[in-house]
Amino acid sequence: MSEKRVYTFGNKQAEGNSSMKNLLGGKGANLAEMNLIGVPVPPGFTITTDVCTEYNQLGQEKVVDLLKDEVEQAIAKVEDIMQTKFGSNEDPLLISVRSGARVSMPGMMDTVLNLGLNDAAVQGIAKKTNNERFAWDSYRRFVQMYGDVVLGMKPESKEDIDPFEEIMEEMKEEKGVENDTDLSVDDLKSLVKKFKTAVKKQTGKDFPENPWEQLWGAVCAVFDSWNTDRAIYYRTLNQIPEEWGTAVNVQAMVFGNMGKNSGTGVAFTRDAATGENLFNGEYLLDAQGEDVVAGVRTPRQITLEGSKRWAVLANVSEEERAAKFPSLEEAMPSIYKELDDIQSKLEKHYSDMQDLEFTIQDGKLWLLQTRNGKRTAAAMVKIANDMLHEGAIDEKTALLRQEPNKLNELLHPVFEKTAIANAQVMAKGLPASPGAATGQIVFFADEATKYEKAILVRIETSPEDLEGMNIAKGILTARGGMTSHAAVVARGMGKCCVSGAGSIKINYRERSLTMEGKTYKEGDWISLNGSTGEVYDGKTNTIDPEVSGDFAAIMELVDKYTKMHVRTNADTPHDAQVARGFGAQGIGLCRTEHMFFEGARIKAMREMILAKTEEERRKALDKLLPYQREDFEGIFEAMHDLPVTVRLLDPPLHEFVPHEEENQKEMAEEMGISVKEIQSLVDDLHEFNPMLGHRGCRLGNTYPEITEMQARAIVEAALNLKKKGVKAIPEIMIPLTGTHKEYKFQEDIVRATAEKVFEEHGDKIEYLVGTMLEIPRAALTANEIAKDAEFFSFGTNDLTQMTFGYSRDDASKFLPIYIKKGILKNDPFQVLDQEGVGQLVEMGTKRGRETNPNLKVGICGEHGGEPSSVEFCHRVGMNYVSCSPFRVPIARLAAAQAAIKE
Ligand code: PEP
Ligand code: MG
Repeated sequence: MSEKRVYTFGNKQAEGNSSMKNLLGGKGANLAEMNLIGVPVPPGFTITTDVCTEYNQLGQEKVVDLLKDEVEQAIAKVEDIMQTKFGSNEDPLLISVRSGARVSMPGMMDTVLNLGLNDAAVQGIAKKTNNERFAWDSYRRFVQMYGDVVLGMKPESKEDIDPFEEIMEEMKEEKGVENDTDLSVDDLKSLVKKFKTAVKKQTGKDFPENPWEQLWGAVCAVFDSWNTDRAIYYRTLNQIPEEWGTAVNVQAMVFGNMGKNSGTGVAFTRDAATGENLFNGEYLLDAQGEDVVAGVRTPRQITLEGSKRWAVLANVSEEERAAKFPSLEEAMPSIYKELDDIQSKLEKHYSDMQDLEFTIQDGKLWLLQTRNGKRTAAAMVKIANDMLHEGAIDEKTALLRQEPNKLNELLHPVFEKTAIANAQVMAKGLPASPGAATGQIVFFADEATKYEKAILVRIETSPEDLEGMNIAKGILTARGGMTSHAAVVARGMGKCCVSGAGSIKINYRERSLTMEGKTYKEGDWISLNGSTGEVYDGKTNTIDPEVSGDFAAIMELVDKYTKMHVRTNADTPHDAQVARGFGAQGIGLCRTEHMFFEGARIKAMREMILAKTEEERRKALDKLLPYQREDFEGIFEAMHDLPVTVRLLDPPLHEFVPHEEENQKEMAEEMGISVKEIQSLVDDLHEFNPMLGHRGCRLGNTYPEITEMQARAIVEAALNLKKKGVKAIPEIMIPLTGTHKEYKFQEDIVRATAEKVFEEHGDKIEYLVGTMLEIPRAALTANEIAKDAEFFSFGTNDLTQMTFGYSRDDASKFLPIYIKKGILKNDPFQVLDQEGVGQLVEMGTKRGRETNPNLKVGICGEHGGEPSSVEFCHRVGMNYVSCSPFRVPIARLAAAQAAIKE
């Protein structure tokens, strides 16, 4: 651990720089860097992320002790630059305290502004600025923020109202005004008093007057906020390790609320929703930090072009726009010019789209933050592709800029053209996060699970709503701009969102939404188009998207760098077709059991299972053969010229037998035996531990005729297609192999059957026989199994189950708790446990190839579509990964990134 705990910056000098994100957090590192490249930034300092870890280990008192000298020296430096004094009554230095982790965590960590104010200092500020209103407005904001964030007054439950908001609303009502800005100085003074009384009442303590006490309170609150439920939830969702910690940024205040010549805003160097190369953003005059994102007032656009586009969307005439909502470009041309120059400089410097925060204090521009901007998937692929063609980045960088999981958004459904043509538009908001969503209305985030498809409808959202937002199919808010909490978070999640639909009326108490005079209740259907901002009445059908435009261009680049193939897990010709459209290079797992469930097949299947003799069983299998052959023909045809791995029957037989009386009767009639007899056969098949029971190759080894039938169906299907000029490349896979003999017995049956069929048809096809590696013993003895198997496919679902000893079916009861407590970092059924299960995968691959250097190795468990697991598969030298059709582009990208990172 470094002995230096505090890094200062200011006056175009800095002790840190942008490469120190791990230590200084993203915000701190960039504040330092902006100083180094000459961007105007208020002076300040960053307390390192290491201190957060110390704080968690040593506790508050010890850490304050360790920090004291360095913080006092850093404050002195800021005082020097600002020519003010922290704690002075006449000319006080006011500061902000913010969090800043390695990666940005929107809304997770709390911010305190105007720290250093007290009953005496407020007089000093009023005198110095000759602006009493500003001084008292700053003071009431400080008491409110400090009360909420540091003193824990922010309400926990959705029913409770923020005590400060309540006092404010009462005051506005009493004075008959609508906006905070309409309150008089005396009103603000009385607000401060009332706020402090509320603090005393709720916490039992007086509001701290001593600025140093305020500062330490705020610093510790930032560290504490690293471990709030919301922060932990976000970390889990985004796989951010707990030990990263957050830094604390302390900075001299600059004020956007000093009158009409001041303001504050946020901006993006390119469009974060579409990726268009257009500087854009929002600002408010006479406002402070949070006002723009909180959605309290309607923000204005920064550029004239943006302002005009906004007016069209918001249904505001050009006249009204120019008079009431002028752009910054029109309102403050020279400030705009400076900001435009800075944004170009920053984008060039970081060679990526930047998200900026700025404040104008009395006609002087200050930058408060720059970071790589969050963006939608559409913007992600467009910006990288554009920057590549502009020469700003190279091909490898363009690929590494893609977040594989984000591609999900581009693979999300859009509205069916005919359905949307008939749908009625009920409201229009801002196109905050693209995509189409249809679902049933819920008004509270924690009720999003009520419906399979929920649309979360809120006046505005806050960080507490995160979990519900993630579960909902779409989000609709009445307030807030393109940078509101709802918009930013939804874009990060790739979730369809329409924000700021001002015409809708929401009544939480009655759980109702009114649009165009029609009232909707909870559970009613609506649809959202996050790309246009339209809200539609009722349910609207959606369709699957395709790979085109910038997305297709990026996917083409992927193929240039990737080393591993990507196949798909598909059991139907339709799924195979979809996956092929996404670039799948074959099928890595075709689960044949899914083919036995439909209509007449299940009857024949049950007959086979309930058969008492081999002869009876063969009779039933003869009925199944044509179905199987037909299914394989369909799949082989869809995947012509590409390999198709067909896995022989795997699940335990009891899954197929009739458990309901009605079905038992039907089978009794079909087979000419009594219902009682059927019931006793079903009972016989019952297993206490079916996942570890009579399944996989254990079935084929006890009833070889099942393997015979399946092998025949596969080979005959391929031969039939050959006659039609279609090339099928079957790879026959034995499931759940644990010993070499288990495998060999099955392989012999497959090969003997194939030879027999070749003879009958007087023709041949090429095929492979190999096995799943999903039992730890198989990985340990892979060198033996590879003597005969031509390929291995790691079934990491079962391998994870058996390595951890966690039942795939029951683990959901305790896994969420394990993850919350930090016992496990991830759900090992979703993210491959590289440390443990990964060892078996690595060993199995290595040992297999020691015997058979040409052994083809792949993976077909759920992990085959999960980016970090795909990277692992590349590292151990697999030939391919296989995943569900919609994850194919994600896996392709992850595979290319793994090859580039090598
Ligand atoms: C596996 O176990 O990883 C696998 C792909 O097979 P299944 O999920 O069908 O058991
Ligand atoms: Mg399995």
